[in-house]
Amino acid sequence: MALTVFRFDASGCNGCDIEILSAVLNPEYGITGIEVVDAPDKAQAMIVTGGGNEKTAALLKGAHSRLQEPKLVIAMGACAASMCVFKEGYNMRGPVDTVVPVSYFVLGCPPRPQNLAVAVQTLLKSDTDRSGPLWIGPEGLRARMAHDPEKCTACGACANMCPSGAIDIAGDGKEFRIVFNLWKCSFCGTCQQVCPEEAVKLTADYNLQGGEKASLIVSGTMARELCVVCGNPHITKIQKAAVQNRILSHDGTLSARLSEITSSLSTCPACKAVISRQTTARKNMLRWVYRT
Ligand code: SF4
Ligand code: SF4
Ligand code: SF4
Repeated sequence: MALTVFRFDASGCNGCDIEILSAVLNPEYGITGIEVVDAPDKAQAMIVTGGGNEKTAALLKGAHSRLQEPKLVIAMGACAASMCVFKEGYNMRGPVDTVVPVSYFVLGCPPRPQNLAVAVQTLLKSDTDRSGPLWIGPEGLRARMAHDPEKCTACGACANMCPSGAIDIAGDGKEFRIVFNLWKCSFCGTCQQVCPEEAVKLTADYNLQGGEKASLIVSGTMARELCVVCGNPHITKIQKAAVQNRILSHDGTLSARLSEITSSLSTCPACKAVISRQTTARKNMLRWVYRT
């Protein structure tokens, strides 16, 4: 099957567009069935880069209406999927799927050309041998993150520092859940840099694509221990160990008082607020941490 494609730059920086050309022009990627045409009327598919803005959103809608069936739309790159770091831009109207229906999201900033090639091959239902070195992401590539719940303290540093607002942490129930929304991510690597526990790392796995944004995530769950007083969900084992280690790193002799420290850490803030013995424990903790 061949596919005629119209390329639409809605507000991209050109990085994605260059990778589209790399993917299409390099026969080694195996997407020779694709033909880039110069008008939407001649195309069955559109590859869109950048988010829709005041000027381009209406044009994008118009171009989509002129496409031939099956009117496939590939949203290429972080900006097309979510507007990413540009989402607060004064002239931005919305990611591509708020303007026209999107068939496939190809993620990255910019996506690897191989990533687009896989998407096109999937849409064309074509089989390509991807076992060669061309398909291996180079060392240092910042793509899909790997999260280790055994190290994560759910401290929130990554979510606070993420420039794209791509990380959600919630802890209402019996666990903390961290979600890295890949479709909002610019793959800047800040989460990896700020994580004090080395719990998140960006890997070279660039194969980031799919038809549903909701499936383009990396997540982890950390079970919470129950408060020893009220029995409500409280701290995680990893959080407790991290704080405990921090206290002991200030003064190793405090290991003799480990049970007091553990008792204080195992009591939720609500109970600490009403129990006099825990108020004392909290004061002790502050004294130990700040050595006052
Ligand atoms: S996703 Fe990155 S490379 Fe692509 S248009 Fe946006 S800023 Fe440029
Ligand atoms: S991944 Fe790291 S920075 Fe993010 S919540 Fe977990 S420990 Fe904190
Ligand atoms: S790499 Fe991490 S910090 Fe950067 S945008 Fe993605 S989730 Fe946010």
